[in-house]
Amino acid sequence: MHKPGPRRYLLQPRSYPSLLSLVIPMYNEEAVVGFLRRALEDFMRTLGCDAEIILVNDGSTDTTLPQVADWADQDRRVKVIDLSRNFGHQLATTAGLDFATGDAAVILDADLQDPLYVIAEMMVHYCEGYDVVYGQRQCRDGETCFKRCTAWLFYRLMRRMVHQDLPLDAGDFRLISRQCLNGLQQMREVHRFLRGMVAWAGYPQISVPYRRACRVAGATKYSLPKMLRFAWTAATSFSTLPLKASIVMGIVVSLLGFAEGLRATLAHLFHWYAVPGWSSLTVLVSLVGGAILISVGVVGEYVGKIYEQIKDRPLYLVSRAFNVGAATFQHHDEPVTWRTYR
Ligand code: UDP
Ligand code: MG
Repeated sequence: MHKPGPRRYLLQPRSYPSLLSLVIPMYNEEAVVGFLRRALEDFMRTLGCDAEIILVNDGSTDTTLPQVADWADQDRRVKVIDLSRNFGHQLATTAGLDFATGDAAVILDADLQDPLYVIAEMMVHYCEGYDVVYGQRQCRDGETCFKRCTAWLFYRLMRRMVHQDLPLDAGDFRLISRQCLNGLQQMREVHRFLRGMVAWAGYPQISVPYRRACRVAGATKYSLPKMLRFAWTAATSFSTLPLKASIVMGIVVSLLGFAEGLRATLAHLFHWYAVPGWSSLTVLVSLVGGAILISVGVVGEYVGKIYEQIKDRPLYLVSRAFNVGAATFQHHDEPVTWRTYR
């Protein structure tokens, strides 16, 4: 069978962006603000264009907000979007992208795990005509073996379930062109897996390999339950495979039941030795019961997602914004709702 290869693009070269937006979600990152500031200030001096830094405070409970507000006070290029509570990494990033006004935006971790020098390489591809340039991790310094293994499995599973174009080992560190950003802004689903959404959006995409550094300070905000929830959102918001899996499970369990029935009949007819016990019955009942419950649970997950989406709530609410011009805030004055982007 002919397997289609990667898509071919007819690239249209474009000029260097006149404004680059750096979007950085932050949750309890007080330990890294100083490092981040120094690194970004150095980086912006080497950048051949103007840049705006969009710091999204995702309901931090430490001193992140006062620190970044102070930074914004001293540097007009720094815009702070203070969300009304913790909405999670994917929504905080979405908020940052919504407020980005640049010709291209780069999503970064606040902890400097994504090296800034890679952005220069991303810009080269941007000028070649690529709309999405994602960083592909070659090596993860300072991460536990468990995290590396689960991440390895996650990307391979997601590629099967979410989108065949989902790049392997690529996090959210990526450059996105204005054209693709405008497309993303029209996708207002509540359960967001940005990487899958960017893969879905299409456009010419390319990877740049990089070595993922250690956190400069602080600890990861992705605990195991959070990672599992993230994986589940990724799987169920892009794929109906779990629904199909429950059908397969139902068939398997039914076949088991059928086989057991056959065996019992034959045992009766041919007077095989049979323990007149409950064990086989119990096994069957629990198998069937388990399969039904799991299937109902999976359906419930999807119904829950439909319910959340149908409520039509804004994705996030902004409490305050610093250095955000009237022009940008025009869309946001109502209060900020996603409807304004439709
Ligand atoms: N983050 C956020 N909201 C959250 C969790 C994380 O804005 O609820 C931010 C966090 O401050 C960091 C980025 O998302 O800038 C990625 O998180 P982290 O570095 O902890 O994840 P890891 O790199 O360990 O996967
Ligand atoms: Mg990180």
